[in-house]
Parts: sequence; C-alpha cells; structure tokens
Amino acid sequence: MAEEKLSFQAEVSKLLDIVVHSLYSNKEIFLRELISNASDACDRLRYAALTQADLIAGDGDFRIIITPDKAARTLTIRDNGIGMNRADLVETLGTIARSGTAQFVKQLSGDAKKDVSLIGQFGVGFYSAFMVAEKVDVFTRRAGEEQGWRWSSEGLGEFVVAEEAGLDRGTRIVMHLRAGEDEFLESYRLRHIIKTYSDHIALPIVLVADDKEETANSASALWTRSKSEITKEQYTEFYHHVAHAFDDPWMTLHYKAEGAIEYTGLLFVPSQKPFDIFHPDRKQHLKLYVKRVFITDDCAELLPAYLRFLRGVVDSQDLPLNLSREMLQHNPMLAKIKTGLVKRVLSELKKKSEDSDGDFASFWNCFGAVLKEGLYEDFERRDEVLEICRFRTTNSDEPITLAAYLDRMKAGQEAIYYITGDEVETVRKSPLLEGYIAKGVEVLLLTDPIDEFWPSAVNAFREKNFRSVAQGAADLSAVKSEDGEQEKAAEPAANDEMDALIASFKLALGEQVKDVRSSARLTSSPVCLVADDGDVSMHLERLLRQHQGGAKRPPRILEVNPAHPLIRRLANDAKGDGAVERLTDAAHLLLDQARIVEGEAVPDTQAFAQRLSMMLERAV
Ligand code: ADP
Repeated sequence: MAEEKLSFQAEVSKLLDIVVHSLYSNKEIFLRELISNASDACDRLRYAALTQADLIAGDGDFRIIITPDKAARTLTIRDNGIGMNRADLVETLGTIARSGTAQFVKQLSGDAKKDVSLIGQFGVGFYSAFMVAEKVDVFTRRAGEEQGWRWSSEGLGEFVVAEEAGLDRGTRIVMHLRAGEDEFLESYRLRHIIKTYSDHIALPIVLVADDKEETANSASALWTRSKSEITKEQYTEFYHHVAHAFDDPWMTLHYKAEGAIEYTGLLFVPSQKPFDIFHPDRKQHLKLYVKRVFITDDCAELLPAYLRFLRGVVDSQDLPLNLSREMLQHNPMLAKIKTGLVKRVLSELKKKSEDSDGDFASFWNCFGAVLKEGLYEDFERRDEVLEICRFRTTNSDEPITLAAYLDRMKAGQEAIYYITGDEVETVRKSPLLEGYIAKGVEVLLLTDPIDEFWPSAVNAFREKNFRSVAQGAADLSAVKSEDGEQEKAAEPAANDEMDALIASFKLALGEQVKDVRSSARLTSSPVCLVADDGDVSMHLERLLRQHQGGAKRPPRILEVNPAHPLIRRLANDAKGDGAVERLTDAAHLLLDQARIVEGEAVPDTQAFAQRLSMMLERAV
C-alpha cells in the first residue's frame, strides 16, 4: 500500500511551531519524554499480558534501547512495549489526546515567552523530538497484530502513514538530527542525560555505544528504594515522569504503609495548578501498581475527587495481579488503601499548614477550592479538612484558619458568619456586611463556587454554626460592642412610624417581595435584600442561572434601615395619609436599588427610569 498523507490537527501544528521555533533552553529533555513514553508502552503491555500471555510470547524482557549512529546522524529509541496500529498512530501522533487540550491551546497567545511557560506546564511529550530532529520516523507494530506501520513527519503540518513489513513488536523511533545537534550522538552525553532524567525508570535503558551494550540507569522502581538513597532531584524527575509535569513538586510524600494492609505511596502535590484541574470529569491521577506491575492510571476508587491534585504512584502488595476493572470497583482492599491515603495526605497537609516555612499559601491558592469539595463530599473527614482550610475575611486579606477566626470572635457572638459572591472586592462592599463591620464581627468572604454548598452541609466547626449574612434575620443584638468602638448610632424612626412604612411598602410591592422588615444589619445603606431561611442564596441563584439558564427567582425579603435619614423621613410621611403615591414610588425605587447593589438586573428598567426622573424633578 502506498503512503498516505495526513494533516496534523490544527492544535498540533500550532504546538509544533512553538516547539520548533522557540524555546527550550534544555532541548535534551526530548529524550526523557521519549523514554517516558516507551516505558509507559511497556507497562501497558505487561498489564495486558497478565490476562493474555501470548501477547508477549517469545519476548518477555521489557527494555528500552538507545542507539546513536554517527554516520547516518540518527538517534534511535526502541521499546518492545505495546506498539501502535494505524488507528493508534493517527489518533495519538496526529492529535493531542489529553483532556482539556482545546482549552490549553486556546490560551496560547503567540507570544513565545508566555507560551513557553504554558507549554512548560502542559508538556509536549512526543512532539518534543522535533526540537532536535528535522525528520522523525516511527516504526511500530502493535502486540497481537500482524501488520506493522511507519509514520514519518518533518513536523510541518503533515505526516505520512504507510504499511511496513518485518517489524518486531513495539516501537522504534528514528530521529534524523538537525544540523548542530550532534551532541546527541555522543554516548557520554546520552549516558548523562539518561542518568539525570530517567534513572528512576524501572526497566533497563540500554545504551548501544561503540557496538557495546550498557545499561545506563538503575532500572529499579524509584518508590521501592529507601528514602535515604533518593535525592531531591531524583524525586523531581520521577514527578515529571509520572505527572507529565514540568514544575517542581510542592510536596513529596514517600511512605510504606504496614499492618493490616501493605502498600507503598509516592505522592506529589504540584506547585502549579494543572490547567484541567476543574475539568468536569474530576478524574484522579494516581497510578496503581500491584507488586511493581502497572495496573491503571484511571482508578476512581483509589482516591476521592477532592484530592485529584495529587500525582504519583501507589504500589500494593496485597491486591491480586489479575485485577479487572470490575474487581477494582468493589474491592475492600482498595477501599482500605483509599482510606489510608486520604488520612495520610490530610495529616501531611495539616503539618504543612502549621509550618510557617511551608509556603502553605501557595498550595491554598492552587488547590484550596478543590480541597473544599471534601467538606461537601467526605462526611467522615470533614473536620480534618476544615482544620486545614483558609479563608479571607472582612478583617484579613491573608487567608486565616477557622481556629484563628474562633479566637477573634466577639463576646456574645454565636456563629461563624460568612458571605458568598464572585469576587472578594465586590463582596467586601456589600451592604449586608455593614452591621457586622460596625460591631467588629469578622465575616468570612467566600468566593469559590463550591462555597455555596458546603456551609449548609457542614453546619458547624467546633460547635459554632456557620451562618450566612445574606440569609435569615441578623442576630447581632447579643454581640457587645467594645468600649468606644461603636459610633453613635443614629436615632431610629419610631416604631409606629416604621410599622406604617412597612405596611405601605408591602402594599406597593406585593408579590415582588417575600416580606418587608426592619433591619438590624444595616448602618449606612437604606435597604438591602436577603434570602429567607431555607431559600437559595441570591449568589447561588445567579450561579445556577449562568449554568442552567432560567432558574426561577424566588421573591426576597426587603430589609429597611430604620436609622437611615431617608427611611426616617418616609416613615414620618407614612403616618399620615396622602403620601401614598410617593411611598409607592419610593418602595419600587428602593427595591430596584437593592437589586442593583446585589448585582441583579432591574426587571422593569422603563418604570425605574420614569420613577427616578420624577423623584429628581420633585427634589430639584
Ligand atoms: P502523552 O505521553 O503525554 O500522552 P505524547 O505526545 O508523548 O503524549 O504521546 C502521545 C501518545 O502516543 C501516548 O499517550 C501513547 O498512546 C502514544 N505513544 C507515544 N510513544 C509511544 C510508544 N513508544 N509506544 C506506544 N505508544 C506510544
């Protein structure tokens, strides 16, 4: 069959262009990327052969062979792993298969500097070969299949695929080096690169130099070695390999669990937020090994979604090797490993959060919003997660712990108060906070979407309830103001006048509000809107509307500030008759004003404008 010419997916072309024309100061990492892929390919075949032994018949010794050829100026990397058929080739070496890629490529700006740092987070994998090669040939035959294939490309928009006879199982990648890249033909250089980046690979990496074969790496799984023998650099390189990441790990956790269930964990928390951390699939990323054999990197039962920022491996002694997907689903051993992992990770995070040098803030910035999902989802670990959480507050730009919040609570304060919204800056200005700020009561400023959900699920921290300042009646009467702190409160309107005003507002607004009442939470604003106990908050309602459209709008409670000069004046009017029209206009205008302050749309903008100009006219 003749060669078939195909085009790269647009995203790949864009990526290749950046890879080739910029960027990496350390081009040598292409080798670790290819070795990493080769090692993954061997892992996958070894796992498949557990149930289908004939897949590796005749060749069960997995290895990676690196051959430089100075005369031909080629560097060849071959493995006897799972290999690829035509469909695999076209799909994996013509597109970028990883989830979230479209999003990622959208972020590429064309500004080389910015793009490099983004690609740094993303990793370019196979395509990095084009940093040093002007042409790449991939010869490959998939285990269990007869037909072999060749894939060739110069990395310029197109690649060709053709049948190829006589191939061994696995993949051979031949790189035709660019002019000036001859260093990658020198065995001392290759040896050094392999040692630096790929020593942890559990298979032998054989370097063929001057017709002699030598194994250039330690070829034992890193996590099986003792901690004292592993350098920080080796941990970091291993992290790059398992996580497909380029940053340094923020935290490395390597331990062996012993007792009822035995397993080794080598876990990392990245220092940069992976671009797809909020992808709706919420997949976890730990790789599961059983007795050093790779089983899967897609095992939802291994880790709860709220710890999906973790990378690394878990190697169990106790699970059976011939583990099928179905067996993973209800495996009591696996459940125990999961419990152990969660416990260990949370306690390590707690330690880090108490360590002032631990740079916990950078962790919290990246992953706080993910971890908080645990408050909602992990009933048993809720309190432990709460201990780690940090919050910005009305009194503090630096996120603080709840323990610190409790320490600073005012005498008579009964609850942990919070407000939700999209951004700290806007939330801070909400009139709902006025009364709390006046009394010196600290309020948590919650601005992650998950914050709408967990407080009602959690209920309390160390026996103090969470209470939204946007919901229900404010109950600040028991909080004593400290001496001298309280400004002289303005004289409120008389009770009977307020009653009359509220009655006339209710009459004017009818179904548009659930209730009108006098407010204890306002100091300088005349009115505000609050949600009734048990109704969804206004912020959540907005979020739902953004995501699902057309969520219904339950009527809200309009609270009026009896100490505000405008309200006092209106209340005075309300006592007598004859001001009905003016009070009706005022009621509508004040309701619309409260909506605007909340970030809500005014339902009838025409009527609003007319009333406003009429009021202004009267005033001038
Ligand atoms: P990543 O490894 O991050 O998924 P790559 O671009 O490095 O991205 O590789 C894309 C895919 O191509 C791999 O996921 C794998 O399916 C396939 N692949 C690459 N190299 C090999 C190989 N040596 N053997 C088998 N499959 C491979």
